[in-house]
Amino acid sequence: MKIGVLGAGQLGRMMAISGYPLNHQFGFSGNSNNEPSALLGHMFALEDNADNIESLVAFADVITYESENTDVEVVREINKDVQVYPGEKSLFITQHRGREKALFDQLSIPCAPYQMVNSEQDLIDAVDNIGLPAILKTATEGYDGKGQFLIRETSQIADAWKSMNGVESILEGFVNFKRELSLIAVRGIDNDHKYYPLVENTHHDGILRLTIAPAQAINSEVQKTAEHYMQTLLDEMDHVGVLTIELFETEDGLVVNEMAPRVHNSGHWSIEGANTSQFENHVRAISGMPLGDTSPAHPFSAMINIIGEIGPTDLALKMSNAHLHLYDKTERADRKLGHINITANTLSELNASIATLTDFLPN
Ligand code: AMP
Repeated sequence: MKIGVLGAGQLGRMMAISGYPLNHQFGFSGNSNNEPSALLGHMFALEDNADNIESLVAFADVITYESENTDVEVVREINKDVQVYPGEKSLFITQHRGREKALFDQLSIPCAPYQMVNSEQDLIDAVDNIGLPAILKTATEGYDGKGQFLIRETSQIADAWKSMNGVESILEGFVNFKRELSLIAVRGIDNDHKYYPLVENTHHDGILRLTIAPAQAINSEVQKTAEHYMQTLLDEMDHVGVLTIELFETEDGLVVNEMAPRVHNSGHWSIEGANTSQFENHVRAISGMPLGDTSPAHPFSAMINIIGEIGPTDLALKMSNAHLHLYDKTERADRKLGHINITANTLSELNASIATLTDFLPN
């Protein structure tokens, strides 16, 4: 099947790497021929040129996207000619934090208290209702902690609103979490569902640095609860493909933070760590193939992100249980350039391997 991807970054690159053995071909729309996916398929460069989107649509049997910030109108147009998975509803909801939270409320999925904010007065009112500390976030387009302001005292309200540059925002109550977790699942066209185990994520300056899979000390009830939230969301949105939800683990149980209608950085461990990777399962789902087994292929896995500079990758290449994945990107502060996956039979082996690669982690 010919799979078209809106975007040409590392997610599309890894989809293509997983999809070729299944006899799929790939086309991408991106800004230039230097993007991470460019050498992995037909490149329809320049996203802002309608002709190129048309060429991608003419090429493809099915279309998917790399980002929840993809224009819904563009997807609606494409859908007239070629099926886009995940569908419009998944995209429309997940690209706006307010719509996402409203859906969580509608489905009785616990999330932080929130209020939409369009002015400084709105923010004063929202702080009154929600209390402090609280986090002000842009309603759309935020990623890796960008477009966020942690408000600790009322004296910061004016600065917080100013930092949003007048765009629609959302104030969220601060969740006192023990750990950050995520759940990745995949739903097929035939409504089959498969879930990966919950994983534990460590962020630094808003950017994911380390994932441990499966998350340790998770009882089966917690996994079941997370899967229940996920199933409700997948079915409500009639989602096809991979869906990710990010969660906080608190004293009072799970609180959902946000979701993404796509393969996710916290699922990269699954390339070597699971029987079927999130990328292959996304490709299988959108192309109507049976979904693959999501069980871990090793007792323990980890994923370390390579951020900003490539670093001493030979360290990983010399380890029998480490796997280097680079995205063909140039170095730049805070940029995701690649990741290293580790597999292990024991927790102590996993921790020792992470310690060997400590140069890749922030202090
Ligand atoms: P987000 O862009 O929503 O994923 O937020 C980036 C990071 O900010 C999260 O991974 C958390 O570490 C933190 N964060 C976001 N929202 C909250 C919240 N309501 N309470 C506490 N921490 C949060």
